[in-house]
Amino acid sequence: MSHRVTLIPGDGIGREVSLAAKRCIAATGVKIEWEEQIAGAEAMKKFGTVLPTQVLDSISKNKVAIKGPITTPVGKGFRSVNVQLRLSLDLYACLRPCKFYKGVKSRYQDLDLVVVRENTEDLYAGIEFSQGLKRTKDIIEQIEKLSGSTIKRDSAIGIKPISVSASKRIARFAFDYAVKNKRKKVTAVHKANIMKETDGLFLKMAREVAKDYEGKIEFEDRIVDNMCMQLVQKPELYDVLVLPNLYGDILSDLCAGLVGGLGIAAGGNIGDHIALFEPVHGSAPKYAGLNKVNPAAAILSGVLMLRYLNEIDAADRLERAVASVIAQGKDVTYDLKPDRNDPTAVGTSQMADAIIKALETSTSLFGKLS
Ligand code: NAD
Repeated sequence: MSHRVTLIPGDGIGREVSLAAKRCIAATGVKIEWEEQIAGAEAMKKFGTVLPTQVLDSISKNKVAIKGPITTPVGKGFRSVNVQLRLSLDLYACLRPCKFYKGVKSRYQDLDLVVVRENTEDLYAGIEFSQGLKRTKDIIEQIEKLSGSTIKRDSAIGIKPISVSASKRIARFAFDYAVKNKRKKVTAVHKANIMKETDGLFLKMAREVAKDYEGKIEFEDRIVDNMCMQLVQKPELYDVLVLPNLYGDILSDLCAGLVGGLGIAAGGNIGDHIALFEPVHGSAPKYAGLNKVNPAAAILSGVLMLRYLNEIDAADRLERAVASVIAQGKDVTYDLKPDRNDPTAVGTSQMADAIIKALETSTSLFGKLS
């Protein structure tokens, strides 16, 4: 069976790592018809918008997409393509596995955590009112009237919506993920002791959903500041974490750091019917076109995509091939060498070649055995 997948290569180092991922996915033998779409700076030049409608149409039609990083210009007038994609396609769950691979410089060995971040609401949804505007002052006055609290007149305002529906569906996503992937525990992370209404609601909904999984998946909750300390001191105690958008954004990078950083951190943004996979790292413009950066995060995002497409065997084989190349430590990029200036470090495409070779070797061994 062939799958149709939208490919958005991205910019900066995006094209290089996306091409590496595409080649490695092809080497698994899974048949994919790629529909390439451009977004970001290149689309801005060509179509006058960073996210042309045909990109959204293509993803909505194919239901699955893989994407390289896209540069978000600093300053006014640009809304991040990533945020726009998540909101327009209602990709409400951000999935970030944080797994230790032997050979990666990491403070912790054998770590295997999954972060599930709510993607659509919270402070991160970016509903903000600029300091000094009349409507901001009007809002301040209204809030003061309704809440009885005082807000400084020279404030900017950000809104933190947390809903029953979004909290329930992200909790359900985390529990379903735990069941499907034979995980043991879900931990809800919040600051409900202070934000009793918003985070309190998130926690209440997580507790409600947890009841449906009693006896199958353990449930607990942690206050976000305590969670940060625990993740640094004893991360092995945790399994699947579920968080509102902003804490999820911060803690998923913290967890990526626990297992060796951006070079290997893969992710997916998943809705009820559509999923978009992408490495966690950005477009690292200073390395663009140098064939230098690590393609593993993009390739492991491809592994997540293959799992989503139910190509489990191909996903497992590709993940093992990535793991074996990293463990051998020979054909790896500079960031995976003990010394970043190691002259034996290979380029992006050469590391992809080594992964393809490892994949073919294990495939032919498997073929001989069967
Ligand atoms: P970045 O992740 O692009 O780069 C930070 C540093 O991390 C790099 O300088 C490099 O040293 C290292 N790094 C990143 N990816 C690597 C890889 N594959 N292999 C080895 N080292 C790697 O973060 P940034 O500099 O903060 O952001 C650059 C641009 O990317 C910004 O415009 C930002 O908005 C955008 N961004 C996009 C996405 C996305 O599209 N999903 C995500 C994050 C940042």
